[in-house]
Amino acid sequence: MQFSKWGDGSNLCVLGEDRLEGLVITHLESAVLLEAAMTQRSDPRYGIYPLYATRPRQQPDEITSAVLDHLLDGYVETAEAAGTAARTLWSGIAQQTDLPIDTPDARLLSYLTLRRGYQLAPVRDWRSRELYRYPLLEAFGASADGELLGLLQQRGMLRRTGLIERLRLCPACQGAHLLFVDACPNCHGLEIEADESIHCFTCGHVASQRAFSLAGGLQCPNCRARLRHIGTEYDRPLEHHHCKRCAERFTEAEVITHCGICEHESRPELLITREVGRYEITEYGRIRVLNQDISTPLVSVERNGSLHPQVFEQLLGWQSEIAAQHPECHFTLLHIQLEHLEETGSRLTPEAASRLLRMLSERLPSLVRPGDVCTRTQSADFWVLMPQADPTATKALIEQLQALFEASDELRAANLRFSARALESGHTSLTETSGNALMQKLAEQSEEVLHA
Ligand SMILES: [Zn+2]
Ligand SMILES: [Zn+2]
Ligand SMILES: [Zn+2]
Repeated sequence: MQFSKWGDGSNLCVLGEDRLEGLVITHLESAVLLEAAMTQRSDPRYGIYPLYATRPRQQPDEITSAVLDHLLDGYVETAEAAGTAARTLWSGIAQQTDLPIDTPDARLLSYLTLRRGYQLAPVRDWRSRELYRYPLLEAFGASADGELLGLLQQRGMLRRTGLIERLRLCPACQGAHLLFVDACPNCHGLEIEADESIHCFTCGHVASQRAFSLAGGLQCPNCRARLRHIGTEYDRPLEHHHCKRCAERFTEAEVITHCGICEHESRPELLITREVGRYEITEYGRIRVLNQDISTPLVSVERNGSLHPQVFEQLLGWQSEIAAQHPECHFTLLHIQLEHLEETGSRLTPEAASRLLRMLSERLPSLVRPGDVCTRTQSADFWVLMPQADPTATKALIEQLQALFEASDELRAANLRFSARALESGHTSLTETSGNALMQKLAEQSEEVLHA
């Protein structure tokens, strides 16, 4: 193998003559190679560059191997092979080297632009909280759970090309390590057993089949009647389970989820659903990257009714124009603000705080009515525009939000509370119809409608 060394004792070898075209990590065993690849990908300047390695002598374990495949552009045997592969990538973008790299989104989009057709798929890793993670995102400075991918998809920069898994996550810690346990629907205890029972028609006694057994047949332990004919002398009730704790008999056990990470107990219908997929850059995204213009969003309407703040303001302005002209049209603007966020932020790790906020921003759109739209202007400020809403609808939404806060142990533990203010177009003279001004007005209003 022939590799020129980059400085003495370095395992990093440089590709390219006139300029840096890529890097090769040479002669490292998997654990160290993994670290080196992560460090290299995390480099803010060259992290997106082609990166190869010589194959470790010992086959790494499955997860390490998957992460290495994710971080590296491949294994090579010679510097020539690496150089050829790197040049092929650069020629795909006509040797343009000034790709945007200032932010995690920019690095990811530039990375994908340089590798046309590359499908970014997650690594399944049982050691991670959400079971699936994208180490590349982590290297680029974003959260490894793939949140950025959904945002970039909403902006039209990425396209999801395949669904890999639909996760059910713990509503408290967003972990995917959940246990589904059968429990007694009466006392919620776990000590239940399958048990067929018998119902004696003579005296009406119901008990476990065991209590009825007699050599060669069945006898009621209560009235001593011999039971021979099912349907005329006895039958078998549908309740096939028995609780050892409270003696309840039931047909179907209740399913409870236990979080393997934070021990939170929940019901399956309260779990958060999140989809994990494979993504590629869109042609539009590539053009934006190559034009070094990736900041403004194209598509602002997210699938779930959550809007880019600017678009939200425009829609709000439009609604208030309509309301000013047509008295039969009205709307409610709701401002939901999280309180104690600073104190909370100092108690929680940044990761936990951002998880909580993400959970809220994911749940809010699912609480609003169809046709309502929402946005988030700052980390603690959420807004909902509710066309034709009456106070009952506003109250219902606030109550749902309150229920969400009460149901989450983590929100309670974090002592996170919210306040809500509403502006009803019918009760306000709309001299000002600019969306931004209305939002300002509501934010400055001191009176709060409800408090969780
Ligand atoms: Zn029970
Ligand atoms: Zn009987
Ligand atoms: Zn949990």
